[in-house]
Amino acid sequence: MELQTMKDKDYKDKRVFLRVDFNVPVENGEIIDDTRIKAAIPTIEYLLKQGASLIISSHLGRPKGKVVPEMSLKIVAERLEELIGKDVKFISDCVGPEVKKTAQALKPGEIVLLENVRFHKEEEEGDEEFAKELAALADCYVNDAFGTCHRKHASVYGITKFFKDIAAGYLIEKETSALSKLLENPEKPFLLILGGAKVADKIGMVKNLLDKIDTLITGGVMAYTFIKAKNWEIGDSKVEMDAVPLAKEIIREINKRHLEFHTPLDHIIADKIAPDAHYFATERGTVPHNWIGVDIGPQAIEEYTDCIKRAKTIFWNGPMGIYEIEEFAKGTLEIARAIGQQKGVFSVIGGGDSVAAVNKAGVAESISHICTGGGASLEFLEKGTLPGIEVLKK
Ligand code: ADP
Ligand code: MG
Repeated sequence: MELQTMKDKDYKDKRVFLRVDFNVPVENGEIIDDTRIKAAIPTIEYLLKQGASLIISSHLGRPKGKVVPEMSLKIVAERLEELIGKDVKFISDCVGPEVKKTAQALKPGEIVLLENVRFHKEEEEGDEEFAKELAALADCYVNDAFGTCHRKHASVYGITKFFKDIAAGYLIEKETSALSKLLENPEKPFLLILGGAKVADKIGMVKNLLDKIDTLITGGVMAYTFIKAKNWEIGDSKVEMDAVPLAKEIIREINKRHLEFHTPLDHIIADKIAPDAHYFATERGTVPHNWIGVDIGPQAIEEYTDCIKRAKTIFWNGPMGIYEIEEFAKGTLEIARAIGQQKGVFSVIGGGDSVAAVNKAGVAESISHICTGGGASLEFLEKGTLPGIEVLKK
C-alpha cells in the first residue's frame, strides 16, 4: 500500500494540523499509561526538525459531543511537554476565533494542543463544515492517529479534502506496513493465535485471514465458542452463544482448506472466577459440569508452543485465559514467552489485553510489531484498508 508520506513534503515554515491518538487511560486525573503519547513523538520531532509549527488534535474518551472536564486533554499537554522537553501550549477548544488567532500566531518550532475534538458532536458525525473549520487552522495535514482510522470522523477523514498537502505520520506508516505484511505474502507457516472474549467482533478478521494462514490455535472465550460449536461439554465456561453459528461456519471453512486447527487439549478449570477459587487442570479438552474454564492447561501449552516453534509468521490476538488473575495467567504468559523466544519469526500482537499480557511477560522487545490501535488493527486485517488510510493513499 503506497501512502503519501512526510518524506515527500516540505514543512519549512508550514503550520501542520497533526491528528494523533492521545486517547490515554486516565484514572483520578492521572495518566496511567502514556504509551500512545510516546508513540506519536517520532512524527512530532520530525516535523519540528523540518521547521514546521504544530497544531495537534486528538480525542480522549467518549464525551459524546459535550464538554466533559474529566476528558480534557490539558493533562496530556503537560505530559507531552515533559516527554519532548518543549513548551506545549494548550487551548481549551479546537475551533472558534480564539483558536484561529493562536494558530495564526504560531512560529516555527511552536506547538499547540487543541482541546478534545470529540467535545463537538460534529467530529463523530463527520460534519463537513466542522472539518473545514479545523482545516482552516493550518497549511498542511498529517495523520498519525492509526487507532481512529476505522472511523469516518471529521478530523481523520473529511478534513483531508480541504488540504492539498496531506501525509501519513510514522505510526500509520509502521502499522500499515506490518499489517499489510500479514495480508500480502506472509512467510509460511503462518500461525494465527486467537483468544480473548470478543468473539463476534473478531469473526470478520478471522474469515479474511483463513486464506492466508496454515494453523489456527485458540484459547479463552474464543476456544469455548469453538468447543461449543463442536457440541462438546464446556460446563459453566463463558461462551458467546450468538457467535456459535459463526464458529461452526469457520470450522467448515477450516476443514475445506485442510488447515491445522486446535482447541486446547486440556484446561485449567475453577469453581469461581477469583484468586481464592479451587482450580486444577483437566485431563481432556472438555470442561465438566459446574466448572469454569479459566485458562489453557499444561498439555495445551506444550502443543501450542510447538506450533509457535514451527511458525515463520505469527499474529496473536486475545489472551488464553483470565490473565488478570495470577492463578489463571500461566497459559497467556507462556504463549507470550514462547513467541518472544522465537528467532527469525515475524510476530504481530494486536488487542489491548494481548498487548498488556506481552508487557506483563516482559517480552515486548522481542515482538516484531505491537499494534497500538485495537479495533483499527482488526478492521484493517478484515478489510485490508481503513477509511482514514484510503484518503492518505498516493
Ligand atoms: P484483546 O483486548 O487482546 O483483543 P479481548 O478484549 O477480546 O482481548 O479479551 C480479553 C479478555 O478476555 C480478558 O479480560 C480476559 O480475562 C478474558 N478472558 C480470557 N479467557 C477467558 C475465559 N476463559 N473466561 C472468561 N474470560 C476470559
Ligand atoms: Mg480487550
